[in-house]
Amino acid sequence: MRILIVEDDPSLASGLARILEAEGYAVDVTSRGEQAVEAARQERFDLVILDIGLPGIDGFEVLRRLRGAEYRMPVLVLTARDTVGDRVHGLDLGADDYMAKPFAMPELAARVRALIRRSQAQTGPRITHGPLTLDTVARRAYLIGEPLDLAAREWAVLEVLLGKVEKIVSKEAIIQAVAGWDEELSPNAIEVYISRLRAKLERAGVKIRTVRGFGYMLEEFKQS
Ligand code: CA
Repeated sequence: MRILIVEDDPSLASGLARILEAEGYAVDVTSRGEQAVEAARQERFDLVILDIGLPGIDGFEVLRRLRGAEYRMPVLVLTARDTVGDRVHGLDLGADDYMAKPFAMPELAARVRALIRRSQAQTGPRITHGPLTLDTVARRAYLIGEPLDLAAREWAVLEVLLGKVEKIVSKEAIIQAVAGWDEELSPNAIEVYISRLRAKLERAGVKIRTVRGFGYMLEEFKQS
């Protein structure tokens, strides 16, 4: 799950990033609307948090361009001015939710979860692989019916592999899917997450194969 934050107040942006990363999302931050539109062209985001008052093109214009280009990810708009006119304008342009500053971080986190839940409801929130189930909405994992404890990064790596069963996924692709732009995540770190996942999953017959020089592959589950 990848979230783009478009906010030119650096302390607010980093506070938002921190709270969302702690919930297990990969988070990218930009302070410029033009960059946000470009980023959406290059990468897939599950949600955008969009400030209205930005240098350069404003949040309304960003929203207009995103929806004009048929990007349908949920967009949560932030604004300093809580006026009915602004709210209506944002919703008319295709915003999914709206928060006026200042707001409480826990409320924002709850709105983010709700928006992602709503958009996931269309694609189906559960991923199953043999004895392993990931409920991507409740963010809970189960192995042979028992709750399985996964750290945020382990969850993210596993989600990537589950999307490509029996296909080789490069370490680079995993880093790309799991880390934000400003994070240095080394291939060695990915090895660590993989070995932790193996320790948790192999007893149930869920196998992650190393493809030397390329990356990893989640093997098709076979009942033994
Ligand atoms: Ca601003």
